[in-house]
Amino acid sequence: MAKIQAIRGMNDILPEQTPVWQYLEDTVRRVLQSYSYNEIRMPILEQTELFKRSIGEVTDIVEKEMYTFEDRNGDSLTLRPEGTACCVRAAEQHGLLFNQTQKLWYCGPMFRHERPQKGRYRQFNQIGVECFGIPGPDIDAELIIMTARLWKELGLLANVSLQINSLGTTAARAVYRDALVEYLRANIDALDEDSKRRLESNPLRVLDSKSQSTQDILDGAPDFSDYLDDESKAHFATLLETLDQSGISYEVNSRLVRGLDYYGKTVFEWVTNDLGAQGTVCAGGRYDGLVEQLGGKATPGVGFAMGVERLILMLESLDKIPAEVNNNPDVFIVSVGEGTQIEAFKVAEILRNQFLSINVQTHCGGSNKNRLKKIDKSNVPITLIIGENELKNKSVIIKTLQDKSEGSQNKQQVEVPVADLLNKIEAYL
Ligand code: ATP
Ligand code: MG
Repeated sequence: MAKIQAIRGMNDILPEQTPVWQYLEDTVRRVLQSYSYNEIRMPILEQTELFKRSIGEVTDIVEKEMYTFEDRNGDSLTLRPEGTACCVRAAEQHGLLFNQTQKLWYCGPMFRHERPQKGRYRQFNQIGVECFGIPGPDIDAELIIMTARLWKELGLLANVSLQINSLGTTAARAVYRDALVEYLRANIDALDEDSKRRLESNPLRVLDSKSQSTQDILDGAPDFSDYLDDESKAHFATLLETLDQSGISYEVNSRLVRGLDYYGKTVFEWVTNDLGAQGTVCAGGRYDGLVEQLGGKATPGVGFAMGVERLILMLESLDKIPAEVNNNPDVFIVSVGEGTQIEAFKVAEILRNQFLSINVQTHCGGSNKNRLKKIDKSNVPITLIIGENELKNKSVIIKTLQDKSEGSQNKQQVEVPVADLLNKIEAYL
């Protein structure tokens, strides 16, 4: 019978990879906590309408990429393609936005029917951060400062750079859009096919085009910064000033737009040259209109999401994974002979009681002969052996890898009373 395979673009994360995922997630969690963010967990399925109303009907995500289906009741549901809309829905539904500020984060899978390639999958993971109720540029700056700290802690800071822009108010964007459309219509023959289509549906996305000929045409296009309203200009200036004072370098890119309609004022992306075409590892911005658009009271919001797979690809390709990030046992306990298995379990529990993060592997299954072989082959730093003699003596044999490196056949081996084991072993751990 043919074996069943995973769905294209949806990856298993295998045991040898999970320590790196945990390391990344733990580091992010610690940094977020240090900026006083609280975790929120949302379902991965939502009503389709939520995404249509927030991301926008004429965006790539809603037009082409969503996993949408009818459930058994005939309701249209969608596997979430991103987290911001879900987070707004949840916060609003539970009254978290009324007369208060919120600093929230979440982590989990998102789903988009895109063409799978390196750094681009159909199920991928994001860590998202959202702040509600704070209108000023101070919080925009703090979010960016926080991401910079995270890159520093992960050893990635030298390999990412910050692109930033202001998209102004809806009104300012509308005026700019008209100017841009007029200019692009006059140059329509030089545009790539995608951009011709976007010119009609979502003209600002043309700025984002990867086509060189379109980018050449855009060199002569009206510049967004000339169309910014005064309030957005002041907001942006204070943000940039705060980044300057905080020692964060950036490049203002007036062609930076996002693929989701709800952004206004600040938008930013952290990009890298180390991942080929999939170079954006973290992206976000301000969405002051979104809560109202989803039926709530007008509430300012700003946030970002980072792509976990892309960050892990970076950690791997730049060799930034600390050596201690692994699942290797610290201690291997092998018992050989009648009644020794139970003693092995007892010793293992003594170690686990004492050393909180210790990794103890007990040998289960297999014949005595097979167990003796395992002792010889073990690469675990400390092996404890309990045979029938040791059981009688209330002792264990400690065998370490220490002198293996000197080419000696015999690893160090000492017999110690179980009562002394903790003291002895502490020296080796
Ligand atoms: P891109 O320009 O790469 O398509 P995007 O603008 O669609 O990204 P966002 O919706 O802003 O991305 O998502 C935030 C981050 O999530 C991205 O910067 C990226 O790191 C990650 N991401 C987005 N789509 C995918 C995907 N299909 N596979 C893996 N990671 C993704
Ligand atoms: Mg995309």
